[in-house]
Amino acid sequence: MRPTVVTQLASRFPELLRNQDSPLPCTVDPNLFDPDAGGPASLARSLCYQCPLVQACAAYACHHHRRGIWGGTTERERRLAGYPPRPCHPAGPDSKGEN
Ligand code: SF4
Repeated sequence: MRPTVVTQLASRFPELLRNQDSPLPCTVDPNLFDPDAGGPASLARSLCYQCPLVQACAAYACHHHRRGIWGGTTERERRLAGYPPRPCHPAGPDSKGEN
């Protein structure tokens, strides 16, 4: 999912990627940007800070309530800024105690 979203995001800012001759880090190893998958947040963040999309990406993550590291920001940072991540799974019947 992330590579697709980032590709769409990148297409909105072609001028930022004009001199980018390597793939964006999160498209190479998406799991690194998912702390739930065991990726070290510090490494992912440092790669984001070298990415030309860092500001656009952080704004996207806030407004689309994404999980994981986006634009060098963590879920916690975005939550504290008023942009909590969406729940992983919509509440189903089990969450209400109905089986
Ligand atoms: S800022 Fe980080 S998450 Fe966003 S496109 Fe760049 S490498 Fe990927």
